[in-house]
Amino acid sequence: MKKILLSAVALLMLFSCQNDTTEITPEANAIAKRGCASQEVLLAQMKADPKLALRMNEIEAFTQKSIASARIVNGKIQIPVVVNVLYRTTAENISLSQIRSQIDVLNKDFNATNSDFNKVPSLFSGVKANVGISFVLEAVYRKATTKTSWGTNNAMKIASQGGIAPTSPTTKMNLWACTIGGGILGYAQFPGGSSSTDGVVIDSKYLGTTGTATYPFNLGRTATHEVGHWMNLRHIWGDATCGSDFVSDTPTHNAANSGVPAYPHYSTCSGNPVEMTMNYMDYTDDRGMYMFSNGQKSRMSAVFLSGGSRASFRL
Ligand SMILES: [Zn+2]
Repeated sequence: MKKILLSAVALLMLFSCQNDTTEITPEANAIAKRGCASQEVLLAQMKADPKLALRMNEIEAFTQKSIASARIVNGKIQIPVVVNVLYRTTAENISLSQIRSQIDVLNKDFNATNSDFNKVPSLFSGVKANVGISFVLEAVYRKATTKTSWGTNNAMKIASQGGIAPTSPTTKMNLWACTIGGGILGYAQFPGGSSSTDGVVIDSKYLGTTGTATYPFNLGRTATHEVGHWMNLRHIWGDATCGSDFVSDTPTHNAANSGVPAYPHYSTCSGNPVEMTMNYMDYTDDRGMYMFSNGQKSRMSAVFLSGGSRASFRL
């Protein structure tokens, strides 16, 4: 227990250090490396809610059992999406076409119809997945704010703090588009958290492929990555040196990769496997990520099974 706590603190320190580095980049608005706060937010929520770890352990046990017994959902799952836009500037009040471009990317990436899916190296062609989950834009809510940035404490989801409360979070995926700040492109809540804060948050400058979408995170992959977390995927490096993502067909990565690594990039972990840097759950630039694995598909599918933590999303 002490060890877990210590590593949690170490992780938190790691994240804050990363943020600090990002904040002192010369151009105030330029983010050089991908930053996702999902794990950091999870650790904070675990601290505030001692029962969350227990619920997540139960979800993990269910997931592993579901994978073991191969009871994978093959029927189509369609996720209704509610987008909540918080804006101070006109640029932050992103257009409907920019929002639609993001929904298009999610549909392509989760159905293996993305134009770069054929770039997956032959080494991984046996495990590249068509997840088979689709997304439908159901509503867009907009709210003016005086906040210049929202951070990662879920204020954007709380009306009394100037945010927008989620709409029907047990049957619809809520997505908040706002300025997060601190070098963070987005974050998601994992299955098991409170429904009042459930959903994904994407910085509006890194949402979709048009309008304010900013290179090198202008292909909508921040949301693909965050929705992966929302469906219970972990970072491919397991948020630790040579850590585990609880997926058997992804190689062990020694750390997060950024930019667009040259292929093959070898892991320094046991066995020196070629890293799957093109996986959506790594930290590369948008054009460097274009696949989920079959193991990740099984993990995501498990949350929608009868008895799964997101079973309420099934029609
Ligand atoms: Zn992430």
